[in-house]
Order: sequence, then C-alpha cells, then structure tokens
Amino acid sequence: MVHHHLIGGRSVPASNGEMLDVLSPVDGKVFARIASGTKQDIDAAVRAARGAFEGAWSRLTATERGRLLIRLAAAVEADADALAALESCDNGKPLRQARADAVALARYLEFYGSAADKLHGDVIPYLTTHFIGVERVPHGVTGHIVPWNYPMQIFGRSVGAALAAGNATVVKPAEDASLTILRVASLAREVGFPDGALNVVTGLGRTAGAALAAHPGIDFLSFTGSPETGTAVQTAAAQNHVGVTLELGGKSAQVVFDDADLERALPTLVNAIIQNGGQTCSAGSRLLIQRGIFDKVVDSVSERFRALKAGRPEANPDLGPMINQAQQRRVQAYLERGRGEGLTVAASGGVAEDAPAGGYYVAPAFFAPVPHESVLSQEEVFGPVLVATPFEDEAEAVRLANGTAYGLVAGVWTRDAMRSTRVGRAMRAGQVFVNCYGAGGGIELPFGGFGRSGHGREKGFEGLVEFTTTRTLVIAHG
Ligand code: NAD
Repeated sequence: MVHHHLIGGRSVPASNGEMLDVLSPVDGKVFARIASGTKQDIDAAVRAARGAFEGAWSRLTATERGRLLIRLAAAVEADADALAALESCDNGKPLRQARADAVALARYLEFYGSAADKLHGDVIPYLTTHFIGVERVPHGVTGHIVPWNYPMQIFGRSVGAALAAGNATVVKPAEDASLTILRVASLAREVGFPDGALNVVTGLGRTAGAALAAHPGIDFLSFTGSPETGTAVQTAAAQNHVGVTLELGGKSAQVVFDDADLERALPTLVNAIIQNGGQTCSAGSRLLIQRGIFDKVVDSVSERFRALKAGRPEANPDLGPMINQAQQRRVQAYLERGRGEGLTVAASGGVAEDAPAGGYYVAPAFFAPVPHESVLSQEEVFGPVLVATPFEDEAEAVRLANGTAYGLVAGVWTRDAMRSTRVGRAMRAGQVFVNCYGAGGGIELPFGGFGRSGHGREKGFEGLVEFTTTRTLVIAHG
C-alpha cells in the first residue's frame, strides 16, 4: 500500500517522488510505503494551512469548529477496529492497546471539540475612561512533530487542541508510524474539515521534521519526542521567534513505602513499565522501595516478570516488539551496560515461541538492587527494563525520586494520607499519582514535564490554552 501526503485536502506525492519503505516491527518485513517529505512539501503544506487560516477555517465559529471535531471523534470511534489493526502492524503494539489508543483519540477530539466554544477571554478593570477586553486567539499556523509510540493519542492531544483553538495545522508524523495519522486526516476530510485546516507531511525527521521546525510560516510548534531532537526543534523555533511546547522523555519513579497496599500496587508497578514495551515517556521505569519491604517487593515483582512474554500483537501479549531494529539494539545495549556495571538481573521475561523471527522482540528485564547513580537509574532506556533501589526514609525517597535530569511523572504508594500529600507535593514532576499510576489515560489532565522532560503543557483545558495567545483591546470611551 502506498501513502502520500495530505496537503490542502489532496493526496500529494513527495515533490521529488521519493518514498520510504515501512517495515512492520512484528516481522521486519516491508508492508507499506510512505512519501518521503521534502522542504518543498513542507512549504506547500504551510501555504495550504495559511490559506485555510486566512480563509474558510477562520470563518467558522468556535461552535462550528467544535462540531467538526466531535464529528471526527465519532468517525474515529466507528473506525476504531481498523485503526487498531493498522497501528498494531505499523507500531507493533498489542491490538487491545492500539484499540485503546483509538478510543482515547476519539475522546481527545470530543473533549477539545466540546471545549472549543468555552475558551473565554477576560475583562480587566482599568481607567474609568477605558474598557479592556482580553481575547484568546489562535497562534495561526501550528506545526506538530509526533513520535511513533502513541501516534493517535499524541495527535489527539496536540492537533485536536490546536484545531479547537482555531489554528490551521501541519503535522509531521514519525517515519516509523505515520499510517493511523494519515487515515485520521482522511476521515477529517470526509466529515467536512475545510481543505488546508489539517495537513500531513510524512517523511524523515532530519528532512521533513527539520524543515517544519525551521519554517518561517509556522507560528507555534508542538514537539513530542526525544530530548536531543527537542533541543534541535527549539533552536530552530528560536530563529523564527516562535514558541514551542516540548514533551520529552522521562525516568519516572514509583515510590513504595512500607505501609503500601502491595496487592493493589504490584500489578501497576509491573504494568507501568511493560505497557507499550516500555516505549512510553511516562513509563514507571524506577522502583524506589523502602528498605524493610525491599526483598519482599523485589521477589513479587520478579515472579511477575518471569511470566511476561513479548509476542505478536494479534495475540494480545504482555508486550509487542520494539518499534525498529535500532530501538531493539538500543535496549539490548542498555542491558549489556547494566550487566557490565555488575548489576544483578533479578528476573527476566521471555519472547513467545511463535513470535516471527524477523521481528524486533526483547525479553523484559528487572534489575535489583540498582544504585541510584547507575546508568540504568539515570538514563531513559525506552524499553521493558525496570530497576529497583532501596531507600530508608521519606527524605531519601524524595531525593532519589527527584534525582534525575527528568521530571515527567511520579507514583507514591502509601496508606498514610498525610505522607501521600506531603511526598506527592515534593515531587518535581508534571503529574503525580498516589496509590495508582497513569489513572484513566488522563485526557482531561494537564501533562508535561520539568527539566529534561520538557516544558509547556498538553492535555486537559490547559492544553487548549497552550495553542492560543492573547489580544488585548483597549477602548477609550470617555
Ligand atoms: P525522536 O525525537 O527521534 O522523533 C520524534 C519526532 O521528531 C519524529 O517525528 C521524528 O521524525 C522527528 N524528528 C527527528 N529528528 C528531527 C529533527 N532534526 N528535526 C525535527 N524533527 C525531527 O523521538 P522518538 O524516538 O520518535 O520518540 C522517543 C522519545 O520521545 C523518548 O525520549 C520519549 O520519552 C519521548 N516521548 C515523549 C512523550 C511525552 O509526551 N513527553 C511522548 C512520547 C514520546
């Protein structure tokens, strides 16, 4: 199957005719081809978006924009099985997780669609002779650079919010997982979005992505991906003096106190690193466990790890393959480094016997005990690798939890209400979960990081505000 860009409501091949092979991580075989976007393609998409922003798209009321998004939500929901099958093949994630992504995308579109006409401005008391109105206005044309791990969800939270706020958009999906975004963009055409409001240019990060980040016609950028690329995108945005939201990586800790409800905690401690094969920015990749229960928790987590299996997405295994061979090798290299540091592997999972030979499968690994300074405690592996570190008291728990360059998410497990609030509020993280982790997908909840995890917030109403700026009207009347 061959897929082209969607620019100005039309399917358009790359300006130089080049295509990229799309390999399925399930078996390593080519199953589709996508257009390899060029600087000229990005330029055409930005021009189409500008045309919509200055034309049909901006003539719609906020309510009309919202209705279109809600119609798109319904179309996505009706198409959820097909989207899930496509995502599983493209990205390798278990089918039920891919379906959950499609349902979450529909919910983002519904949330932002119904919020579109509730984005109010302000009136500011000022001189008695003047009336001051502060209006929330869209940035204009927004660029969205999306990673491969949750294409549908990240499209929903970023493009959904930008469109609801009245921006016209240009999206560059990840070269490893573009297909569901292209399909959703074509659903948007079917439900009546004006041409040019939503444009998708596929292709490589270093060409299409870099061209989008640097394009002078872009008024605001949303980037989700690695910290290194985030730096490049923000540097490019600075040349054009435009803002950028950076949603980057994480090394999130789950802090388990000795009074925690372990029966409740254990499945979540494991799932938080296994979901999507650990290729989740908010993965709970570090366990900090109070000394008195350290061995007991390590034993219980180990038992669960030994039962984990990576396998074919259709079989709904614990985890699918890694996204590509580079990612598989990256994870394997971290496992080697951990062993090279003399760390103990407390338990390993396996790879299902029927997993196709050419796929990028990795067996999950649990290391314990792991010193806080270890590379596996400090660097984001982005794979099914969990480490456990003991702590003595609350102060040490907070120090260790906050002791990496990242600050995306944290978990706190305790039955002590005062302590849960105290420790929760001491976390340098954009979201803190108490006696749960990643509860309910969090479409309504502001999300984003501190430090190396980025800046700006997406999701929730705050994510909608992010895609606006203000215009203050000062009216003299006396
Ligand atoms: P990546 O940075 O390699 O790629 C992300 C996107 O950027 C892709 O679309 C890619 O094509 C594009 N890109 C690559 N080089 C570019 C360049 N020079 N200029 C412009 N665009 C470029 O990241 P990845 O490997 O796809 O994703 C993994 C990383 O993303 C991890 O660090 C993970 O934690 C992070 N992530 C964060 C969140 C979050 O919400 N905070 C969500 C998902 C992933």
